[in-house]
Amino acid sequence: MRWHYPGLYTVQEPQEGSGVPLFVDSPHSGRDYPADFGSRLSLTDLRAAEDSYMDRVAARAPLAGGVGLWAHFPRAYIDVNRTEADIDPALLAEPWPTPLAPGDKTAMGIGLIRRVTVPGKAIYDRALSVAEVERRIARFHRPYLSAVERGLAKLVRHHGRAVHLNVHSMKSVGNAATPDGAVRRPDVVLGDRFGTSCAPALTALVGEVLAAAGLSVVVNDPYAGAALLARFGAPDQDRHGLQIELNRGLYMTEDTGDVTDGLAELIGVMDGVFETVSERLADPEWPM
Ligand SMILES: [Zn+2]
Repeated sequence: MRWHYPGLYTVQEPQEGSGVPLFVDSPHSGRDYPADFGSRLSLTDLRAAEDSYMDRVAARAPLAGGVGLWAHFPRAYIDVNRTEADIDPALLAEPWPTPLAPGDKTAMGIGLIRRVTVPGKAIYDRALSVAEVERRIARFHRPYLSAVERGLAKLVRHHGRAVHLNVHSMKSVGNAATPDGAVRRPDVVLGDRFGTSCAPALTALVGEVLAAAGLSVVVNDPYAGAALLARFGAPDQDRHGLQIELNRGLYMTEDTGDVTDGLAELIGVMDGVFETVSERLADPEWPM
């Protein structure tokens, strides 16, 4: 089954009867820029905030018997990996009607509604109305989170558990709006919220497959997982959430946004991750 909601997201399930409790999503690779965005930046500048092409990775999950979900709307418009209250009041033309809880990332300009794509690149030259931010939450943020929630709940219902691989990509070098500053990153950063969003066996297995493919892998530094894992990763409720951040230098030229031959290779490596997790899920006790 495939559910395709133009501008919002696509969910792709495997063939009937071939399913395993694997759910893979790409929340930040959307590139359908809504007409009411009202940004001052060029499309090229806005696209620097995308986890470009990670939808192609999530779309492979059904080949391993898993479910794939990928957003169509861009992260620069609204970030589903932040909570609804994670808003910088300085972006708004008027007071927000309920209490806000802006986090550390929001202070850096990368909250629910981003102030910048990268440092020095302000997205707006205007204040946003409460109504337009509420509309983004109602039309994009909540539906995407509901899709994740429904997908995981369905797998738990059918299989007794769900493994959620939350796929992202990161700049090859950090900057002033990232937690690590201007340093070169490893090939992969796995995030399990310091061992709280999934069983350690899942983090270890995914790390082993990636390392065997020759990639350098670091866990929880500088990315441990954000709002999606915090909400859905609950090993005590048989939902195991792991964030996978892939270095953009592996598959694209970041200045131009052009893909390189590395993309096909990386997709092959991630196919291997999905297949290995899928095979391990034949053990009804895994991952404990
Ligand atoms: Zn991301």
